[in-house]
Amino acid sequence: MFERTLSIIKPDATKRNLTGTINKIIENNGLRIIAQKRLKLNEEQAKKFYEVHNEKSFYNDLIEYMSSDPIVVQVLEGDNAITKYREIMGSTDPQLAEEGTIRKQVAISKQENSVHGSDSVENATKEINFFFKIAEIVG
Ligand code: UDP
Ligand code: MG
Repeated sequence: MFERTLSIIKPDATKRNLTGTINKIIENNGLRIIAQKRLKLNEEQAKKFYEVHNEKSFYNDLIEYMSSDPIVVQVLEGDNAITKYREIMGSTDPQLAEEGTIRKQVAISKQENSVHGSDSVENATKEINFFFKIAEIVG
């Protein structure tokens, strides 16, 4: 299936100048970056983006972290882009991530894990629309 997915390069990575390093891994794995924008989420926007997690113990810390510094929002395109990008990202916890994945290579911790990727077709559409509304990012 030819798909689009929403990717975020998170504050820990933009802060360490890792956007190019991460983009290289994305492109080397056959996904095309068709849109990209650097922006800073405010607290309200971060809360809305991660509202599915609002009951979790890590939610407040996650919101603070995601709104602490600029992020780079991207739309990626390719065959099975959603699942493929999840594979390229690696496990949420970098200690469990496989060799070669972005999180294995650059993530700091389970929270500061450098990247976000949509986890379903429905959420990819939702997340791309979310960033179109707040920042006109589009493919
Ligand atoms: N997160 C965290 N602690 C946890 C689990 C998740 O701080 O125990 C953060 C982490 O930044 C993660 C995000 O919350 O990427 C969303 O969690 P999810 O389970 O959706 O992981 P992902 O889909 O990003 O792998
Ligand atoms: Mg998730």
